[in-house]
Formats: sequence, structure tokens, C-alpha cells
Amino acid sequence: MHNARRSLTALILGAALTLSGACEIETGAGAGTGTSGAEAPPPASAPASSGEAPCATRQDTGRAGSFDEAEFQEDLRTAENIVNGYWAKHWPQLFTGEYRPPRVVGLYEGGDPATSPACGGKPLERDNAVYCPAGDFVAWDDHLMRSGYPRGDAWVYLVIAHEWGHAVQNRLRRELVSPAAELQADCLAGGVLYGAADDGTLQFEAGDEQEIVDSFRVIGDGVPWTRPGDHGSAAERLRNFARGGQGGVRACFG
Ligand SMILES: [Zn+2]
Repeated sequence: MHNARRSLTALILGAALTLSGACEIETGAGAGTGTSGAEAPPPASAPASSGEAPCATRQDTGRAGSFDEAEFQEDLRTAENIVNGYWAKHWPQLFTGEYRPPRVVGLYEGGDPATSPACGGKPLERDNAVYCPAGDFVAWDDHLMRSGYPRGDAWVYLVIAHEWGHAVQNRLRRELVSPAAELQADCLAGGVLYGAADDGTLQFEAGDEQEIVDSFRVIGDGVPWTRPGDHGSAAERLRNFARGGQGGVRACFG
């Protein structure tokens, strides 16, 4: 187990080095890979990245332990926009039909059943984040997001990309959704975040991969969002995140 975890860490850090190697700061979309017209289901192997240098500006924040409210809110918005932008751009290359974004409820106060939003009549839990099929919305508990954020801003990107993955699953034919839906959502999160880096809409920085590794390991116990019975062990989750990161979204199917 320890060996596996170490090699996964190395894998994910290796991917980060590859991504940051040729990196210059630039904004805007990279070239699409141009496989328009592809029919679902996607093949098991993803095309290699377009070879363009990834990069765009993203402020890295929160590592010093102080909590910057404005940067926290900005990271939430940026993560939503980047994840949604990835799916909007790449959906036609991956699946048939049109991409429809889920509604973003965003932060909610899960501690108070009187005020927390409901999904299918049940108030959303504290320390969880959800995609709610009944309302077709994504939402994340305020305390969950804030508790992971001081470790690094990669946390909010991970949670948001994962929940968006569930929204995507809900739009697909049933047979494309893995029985291990949580691990597939982690894979999709990896595919989207690294894919956004390939597109140039997101820049990974040196500490980000370690933050993600730590998020899966440390947040782990006692929080609904990472309950191992629901989501798999930290090592499984990281392995699936890395699979998407290495192979792209297509690697999460089949
Ligand atoms: Zn999930």
C-alpha cells in the first residue's frame, strides 16, 4: 500500500513536471484537438495532448495558512468557470448531443437544515458536496470548502471538478456510467483539470499536485465527502484521479 501510494504520488508529480516544463504565461484557449463529429461512446484511449504548452494565469493562494476571503471566492468562481468551460468546449469531441451545464447552487450552509438547500426533499449535509439529479444542480458545503482551502486552492478545484463529473454522468447513457461512479467522477476530475491545463485555461503550479494528494489522504476520515464506503479509499481515489489526468476524460470510460 505504501509503495503504491508513493508511486502514485510520483506519477502525479511527474505529470505536473511535464505540464509545467514548457509553460509560459498566456491566457485564452489553446487549439482544440479537432476530433469533431466523434460519436459516443468514446474509445478507451485518449488522444495525446495537442502538444501546445499549457498555461494561463491562476493565482495560487492559501498555502500560508491565512484565509483570504476574496481569493477563496475568486477561486470558487474560477474553478466553476474552468470546469464548465472544459466540458462546453470538449463535449462535442467526446459525446453526442449538446452540453447542458448544471445549475450552480455553490456554497451552502449544511449545518442548518432550515436554510440548507434540499435535494429530493432532503436537506444537504454538512461537510459534503453534491450533484443533485433531482434539481440538476451542483453545490458544496461552506465548511467543507473552507476546511480544505488553507491547505491549498487545488482543493476547491478538485471538489468542483468531481461534482461536475457526476452531472456529466447523469447526462450520459447508463452503460457509460461506471458502477464505481465515485471513482469515475474522480477520474473525470483529473481528466478535466489536466485537460484544462492542456487547453491553457488552467495552470498547475508546483504545490498543486501535492495538495491534491494530501486532500485525498488527509481530509479522508469522518467527512461525508470522503467517506471511504461511499467513495473508495484515498489510494483508489488518487489512482483514478491520476488515470484521468494521464489519459484524459476518455480514459475514464471503458
Ligand atoms: Zn461523488
